[in-house]
Amino acid sequence: MSTPGEHLHESASPPGATFEHPELTSDARALLDALKQSFGHERFRAMQAEIVGDALDRRDVFVILPTGGGKSLCYQLPAVLERQRGHGVTVVVSPLIALMQNQVDVLRANGVPAAFLNSTLDLDELYQHERDAIAGNLDLVYLAPERLMSPAGQRWLAQVPVARFAIDEAHCISEWGHDFRPEYRMLGELRELHNGRFRGVPVMALTATATPRVADDIVRQLALREPALHRGGFERENLTYEVRPKQRVVEQVLAHLQAHPDDEGIIYCQSRNRCEQLAARLQEHNIDALPYHAGLDKDVREANQHAFIFGQARVVVATIAFGMGVDKPDVRFVFHADLPKNIEGYYQETGRAGRDGLPARCVLFYSGGDRSKVEFFINQKTDPAEIEHAQQQLDEMVRYCHTTGCRTAHVLEHFGESLDASRDGQCQHCDNCLNPPTLRDITTDARKLLSAVARTGQRFGLTHVIDVLRGSASQRVTARQHDQLSVHGIGKDHPVGHWRAVAEHLIKEDLLAQSPDEFRTVTLTPASKPLLRGELKIEMPVSRAVSPEPERARRGRRPTAADIPDDQVDHALFEKLRQLRKELAEDQGVPPYVVFGDAALRQMAAQHPRNDEQFIAISGVGRTKLERYGPAFLQRIREHDDA
Ligand code: ADP
Repeated sequence: MSTPGEHLHESASPPGATFEHPELTSDARALLDALKQSFGHERFRAMQAEIVGDALDRRDVFVILPTGGGKSLCYQLPAVLERQRGHGVTVVVSPLIALMQNQVDVLRANGVPAAFLNSTLDLDELYQHERDAIAGNLDLVYLAPERLMSPAGQRWLAQVPVARFAIDEAHCISEWGHDFRPEYRMLGELRELHNGRFRGVPVMALTATATPRVADDIVRQLALREPALHRGGFERENLTYEVRPKQRVVEQVLAHLQAHPDDEGIIYCQSRNRCEQLAARLQEHNIDALPYHAGLDKDVREANQHAFIFGQARVVVATIAFGMGVDKPDVRFVFHADLPKNIEGYYQETGRAGRDGLPARCVLFYSGGDRSKVEFFINQKTDPAEIEHAQQQLDEMVRYCHTTGCRTAHVLEHFGESLDASRDGQCQHCDNCLNPPTLRDITTDARKLLSAVARTGQRFGLTHVIDVLRGSASQRVTARQHDQLSVHGIGKDHPVGHWRAVAEHLIKEDLLAQSPDEFRTVTLTPASKPLLRGELKIEMPVSRAVSPEPERARRGRRPTAADIPDDQVDHALFEKLRQLRKELAEDQGVPPYVVFGDAALRQMAAQHPRNDEQFIAISGVGRTKLERYGPAFLQRIREHDDA
């Protein structure tokens, strides 16, 4: 017997790269034509071409690409081509109604016949879609696993000519994943049902989050047969990552919103109360901000999510309950007003920014106090192993905040990846790369702190050590006669925050250790000695509190592969096209981005297309969109140019 992992062959390509087309074979040319005609895209994103190729060879395929990597296209393009080739309908299993709805809206806007089966339909519509699938009149049909595997679902499926099963959000099948759904488990039997009627049907599994353990589990549970594995790099080059000191978050957020009045985005908070308060504060400043958290009524929650997706609310202020099922591609920022509990969650949440490939900004507002708050909650847990695990995750998160090196490199390392060697450890899209911090000599203060740790016997947490340093006369200090120590009061010239920052830095540099249990005792390390003896100098980055915004973030957009340089865009025309898009979307009851993405509008506002031929050359315009929207957009552009 072999393990599932052995069958996986991997196709490697540089992270974030776009697929290049040097000499094209006729097959490749035909694929590109189909991509343009049906989806309006000019070229494949990294991995898409190989994935589509493997799918068209009728293999099982396993796709692991980051959020925004363009996974849907990997089964949608084959679905279009395979129905033309007589293979039938692609059955897509998707966990959430909102996701299905969004995908089907986008497909239909592109003229691809698709439908979903779910409880939002009235029975007539539902039966009609079921019949359409049976008759082979759809390229794709979307449904949830519980519906598919129900007796009624199976009676229906038995009559459908199935080209492929595409299992979206495939990590839901694994208990090791972060979103286990027991209904997914039954999908493993799909090909054996109905006397093996679907045995020859290929399966494609897709996910954005798979540790090797989850990946193996997916392959095994879905019984994938020698699947072609395509795993993309997790770097998101169009996102700028920043950590800024948290001072007055409302003002900090407002400054961004006012400087970028068109940007829509998400602000994550730790608690329901905070969401409500922050949303209310933003509303006071005339920002259309709505809260989203599990404490709201389902109706309110759904209405708020809908308003955000449809561009009627600019900002959603949310707990981590918000996100799954939100496919909005034009999220321009994701802010964290409070410290996230771990890097996985943080990366997933920020990953919701900039799916359309245009620049987007991810800012974490950090204060040392937030760390203590999270620790307080961790210590409410009862299982010591759980406490330790949560504490390690938090420590990792705090190290990310304090790092003076490349943040992307830091995160990639966490996921077992690394930046390409040619990039010299610099992603060039985080604050530390764009605006390297200045360093300050803290040798004297570090020695004072380490001495205080040593003199108090290495038996206390930081709070106590800092109290002693700052000369506190509190009961806890005097009771232990720590006010008698030579170190008592030698640090009163600096505030608590300074000492915390120094301590964090020493911990990061392994010059001080902190126990992972609830006591957080600080102790010396072997490396502390030379520093104490004055044989070592140490520097620390000057707090970001006084550092300016990253130079390039301030200048505005960072160019990305998918973007048109800002100075080439006719902004007045762009605004008019945005307005037109909004009107058309409202008429059709779809979110504005379903009509065209910002990238397409920016290109129109730069190139001023005058006729059909020029219009279809715009990235994002396919055959159907040319017919459906071309006349209105061309007219608006002509009016603008002739005015
Ligand atoms: P994922 O599911 O991996 O998060 P999606 O399938 O939702 O990503 O795609 C993200 C965005 O990228 C969508 O707006 C989609 O239209 C766009 N996209 C996908 N493939 C391409 C491509 N080849 N060229 C341009 N845009 C693309």
